[in-house]
Amino acid sequence: MYKKVAILGSTGSIGRQALEVISSFGGEMQVVGLAAGGNWQLLLDQVKTFRPRFVSLAREEDARMLAGVELEMPPEIYWGQEGLERIATITEAEVILTAVSGAVGLRPTIAALEAGKDIALANKETLVAAGSLVMDLAAARGSRLLPVDSEHSAIWQCLRGESPAWVEALILTASGGPFRTLSQEQLARVSADMALAHPNWAMGPKITIDSATLMNKGLEVIEARWLFDVDWEQIRVVIHPQSVIHSMVEFVDGSVMAQLGLPDMRTPIHLALTYPKRRGNQLPRLNWLELGALTFEPPDPGRFPCLMLAIEAGRRGGTAPAVLNAVNEVAVNAFLNRQICFNGIPGTVSDVLDLHTVIDYPGLEEILAADRWAREAAEKILVKYSR
Ligand code: NDP
Ligand code: MG
Repeated sequence: MYKKVAILGSTGSIGRQALEVISSFGGEMQVVGLAAGGNWQLLLDQVKTFRPRFVSLAREEDARMLAGVELEMPPEIYWGQEGLERIATITEAEVILTAVSGAVGLRPTIAALEAGKDIALANKETLVAAGSLVMDLAAARGSRLLPVDSEHSAIWQCLRGESPAWVEALILTASGGPFRTLSQEQLARVSADMALAHPNWAMGPKITIDSATLMNKGLEVIEARWLFDVDWEQIRVVIHPQSVIHSMVEFVDGSVMAQLGLPDMRTPIHLALTYPKRRGNQLPRLNWLELGALTFEPPDPGRFPCLMLAIEAGRRGGTAPAVLNAVNEVAVNAFLNRQICFNGIPGTVSDVLDLHTVIDYPGLEEILAADRWAREAAEKILVKYSR
């Protein structure tokens, strides 16, 4: 199974878990490149353990800090957007794990696809902003997009050996997040700390807030639309608080396939890296005798408007989903910095989408321009929702 892999976002939640999985493979997988944001100390530890030939950091000053450390096998060090693209296109890398958070992953993912790499895709924001472009490019270059997101990994597994014509619906499960049972009034008062305490998954801060608003599920509907090439009407969302069923596929004969497991991202990461094979591991297993009831309920669009905002932007297409995603990034950041209230996230997203003139069939530069416009527009609107 010898493979060479590079990781974008190696110091994050997914990146760290991926390196743990890679360690468990012994010498069968080689890490040839690592890209991080600002955490150069953790990147340094990873360099010492995995000895990649190339690394990158977001800022030049952090790259210089890393360069100042004497190492037995020093890597080539890059920085900034160019650095990310450099790691995404390392000649010997076969698979690029995209695990940065947000639309910053778009350009490097495109660069990796242009270089003919397979992508283990965690960075869903890239497919949200530029799904059509990314899928067309992957098809043109014969690259594979291997889903890491647990719901999409589940659907991917349920679809193995099935014809696309036999699929009636994809059913995405959602935990419902930490505020599933709160009233409208209670939601208006929740804090960032409350939102960061996710009941089932330990994730990076941005996706944790996205889970609390259900924006994450909306982004995943768009991600599923592109990964599996289905119509919008074929994608459904159901709240499943136990997060044991990771998602399901309903077929035209009424049969439903589900994929189950513990809520542990190392499992889908493991499969994306070993694909097309499966390989044994020591990860914890589901204990059926202690599992208890699995329950399901419909999502409530009144309390969690982000889900529908995302689906509507996805259906509208063009630059709308890129704008939705960019505004959401700004609003989530403002919520994490205690600048705006929880309801300010859907509020800002909705306000900016109303102001946006959608461009149909955008190219990469138009998508990036819409992303920049949306961030500026969002910054101006945030004050309306200040705490
Ligand atoms: P984290 O916030 O934990 O990690 C983000 C990573 O991206 C870090 O390594 C960070 O570096 C790096 N990064 C941020 N900005 C830049 C930049 N400008 N240049 C280079 N690197 C940068 O996020 P997660 O791991 O939680 O999520 C990553 C992606 O995976 C997201 O798209 C998310 O939606 C998706 N995902 C995550 C899941 C999870 O369980 N965590 C589940 C399913 C999908 P540093 O820390 O050094 O600043
Ligand atoms: Mg998910």
